[in-house]
Amino acid sequence: RKAVIKITTGSQALDELLGGGIETNAITEAFGEFRSGKTQLAHTLCVCTQLPTNMGGGNGKVAFIDTEGTFRPDRIVPIAERFGMDPGAVLDNIIYARAYTYEHQYNLLLGLAAKMSEEPFRLLIVDSIIALFRVDFTGRGELADRQQKLAQMLSRLIKIAEEFNVAVYMTNQVIADPGGGVFISDPKKPAGGHVLAHAATIRLMFRKGKGEQRVCKSESINCSSIFLNKTHIFQITPGGIAD
Ligand code: ADP
Ligand code: MG
Repeated sequence: RKAVIKITTGSQALDELLGGGIETNAITEAFGEFRSGKTQLAHTLCVCTQLPTNMGGGNGKVAFIDTEGTFRPDRIVPIAERFGMDPGAVLDNIIYARAYTYEHQYNLLLGLAAKMSEEPFRLLIVDSIIALFRVDFTGRGELADRQQKLAQMLSRLIKIAEEFNVAVYMTNQVIADPGGGVFISDPKKPAGGHVLAHAATIRLMFRKGKGEQRVCKSESINCSSIFLNKTHIFQITPGGIAD
């Protein structure tokens, strides 16, 4: 088993909640409402992964699969500058692909695995994991089929994480929870059901606080190194995620 590397998120509070940072050989999921900071953390991780290991990085390349068209190369520039890195060089080490269907998303993963066997990657981002499934499978009767295809996608992600000692960071959406009950004023839960709930090593819940403040809670799962149900506060700044 290869040595696990922990990649800083740019926030000490968030790192602490994760037991040091986003882990390689594992899947970290962030779910939360629109504008809660999931994509901003992805951008910050694009930079931090390239830091040397003695600075909290992974000294490796990044692959970014974008299903919603929300990657902004110009966001990378001030984040790289914050960490004293050359923005052009940082951008060159981010392999970017836009996915348009869930099948396309799956095929991109197959292509990336080939690339990862040749070059040192330490992070794979899928932002978001579920969006295209929700577009491509709309009918009620398609749910079982959707979940089966989603499980295939997730097992491919786990394989990549383990085979190449890569940290997988995937984002997820929230959906209304009809079973939320009358006592919950704003019942929302992560999309993807049990299939997605069991895939992630660590599941984080993001929500908005005051201004650019954000609240993160660790919600599970198959991991002993983190402190469950702890709440930590971080900020979204021009230089990325910070305290
Ligand atoms: P999500 O992916 O969860 O929908 P995002 O990660 O895209 O949300 O977060 C969007 C929020 O990030 C914006 O509403 C804004 O508050 C903050 N943000 C985006 N860019 C910047 C920036 N350059 N400086 C500070 N905050 C920013
Ligand atoms: Mg987003």
